[in-house]
Amino acid sequence: MTEPEIKKISEKGLSKRKWIGVHFQCCQAYSRIYINKQNTTYEGQCPRCLKKVRVRIGAEGTKNRFFKAW
Ligand SMILES: [Zn+2]
Repeated sequence: MTEPEIKKISEKGLSKRKWIGVHFQCCQAYSRIYINKQNTTYEGQCPRCLKKVRVRIGAEGTKNRFFKAW
């Protein structure tokens, strides 16, 4: 029975991973996108039309936690 252990690890990883909220203007939909492995860019896609978006992080990081995507 390894399943509970795997779930525990993945939940721990998710809570550590940074995310931002994005409002997709294309579909008037809201979704979270997560930081990439290099910690340089937030990457995600629109939950409805699957358009991909990226939010670059500057040297000082992102000040805003919510973004609009076109
Ligand atoms: Zn969309």
